[in-house]
Amino acid sequence: MLVIIFAALMFAAVVWHYKSLRKLGATNSQSIKLMIIEAVISLVAGYAFFKGANVANPKLLSVVLYSIVLPLGFFWVILLRKEMLRGCMSQTLFFIVVWSVGLTATYACEVKSQASASATETEYAAQFASDTYTTQSGKQVSISFIKHGTLMFNIDGQIVHIDPVAMFGTDYTKMPKADVVLVTHEHADHLDTVAIAAIKKAETKFYSNGRVAEITGKSTAMSIGDSVQFNGFSVTAVAAYNNTPGRENFHPKGRDVGYIINVDGFRIYVAGDTENIDEMNNLGKIDVAFLPVNQPYTMTPDQCIAALEMINPTVAYPYHYGETNLDPIVKHFFKTDSIRIEVRELQ
Ligand code: ZN
Ligand code: ZN
Repeated sequence: MLVIIFAALMFAAVVWHYKSLRKLGATNSQSIKLMIIEAVISLVAGYAFFKGANVANPKLLSVVLYSIVLPLGFFWVILLRKEMLRGCMSQTLFFIVVWSVGLTATYACEVKSQASASATETEYAAQFASDTYTTQSGKQVSISFIKHGTLMFNIDGQIVHIDPVAMFGTDYTKMPKADVVLVTHEHADHLDTVAIAAIKKAETKFYSNGRVAEITGKSTAMSIGDSVQFNGFSVTAVAAYNNTPGRENFHPKGRDVGYIINVDGFRIYVAGDTENIDEMNNLGKIDVAFLPVNQPYTMTPDQCIAALEMINPTVAYPYHYGETNLDPIVKHFFKTDSIRIEVRELQ
């Protein structure tokens, strides 16, 4: 609506200016050309704001626009004086006022609507339980437990979705938009292209194992050992596979990945679909670990205990556990008092 009013006023200003130029017999003057250029730039900008979600950084866009169009406006006033067309000065001022007020208002509405959208999303996401950790550098890392193998991180304001899928009832059109999406492998309980499309913004970064990159054509493939630096944290892909004879085909070695998220030395391991594999001895210090516990696809509770003894995290969340009884894991580490086991709704 605002853009339409803005466009109508612009159009009126151009017509008004043209009419008075005709009266003065100067329709070919530089000033009308300049005015049309300014009107076009302004309408494109208004439309860009109107499109909302496609403006990644409305503040930057408005700074760029003001620094192009305002000097042009001054140049235009000088031109009018030079061409002895002072009779047109009032239209020029009218145009500049319409431009400034219109674009500022459109920009303000855009920022407001983005803020209210993100408030609604935060409210929807609040239905999922979450734990918050503080890194030594003072950053807040909150982990929302969505379901099964699906997690959402808020790392100091950056939203990271891991294996976002709607199949367990999450409405991803209402979830916070992603700064980063990480997918471990292509199974339906991990890859959901519709959910990913719903949380994607223009600047969302999407990383996955190689197979998901081939299937979707939209993600950047990470091989085991690859690291990517994001805004304030890094992500490393690590091995995830079955090694029990007869089960290797569920998650063949070398195809899928797990991830280690490193926030200033605070390291979170999200294992993906894997059994207890030798590579778990070499993950380095892990503060928080997510390990899958459902047979026959991932681990038994005993395998999970063996895996945790290799990894030795401070806190461990069994996840992707379906109907598995987790008591053996909880009891084992309660006895040894070495690793804090936290159980959340991650069936
Ligand atoms: Zn799987
Ligand atoms: Zn799975």
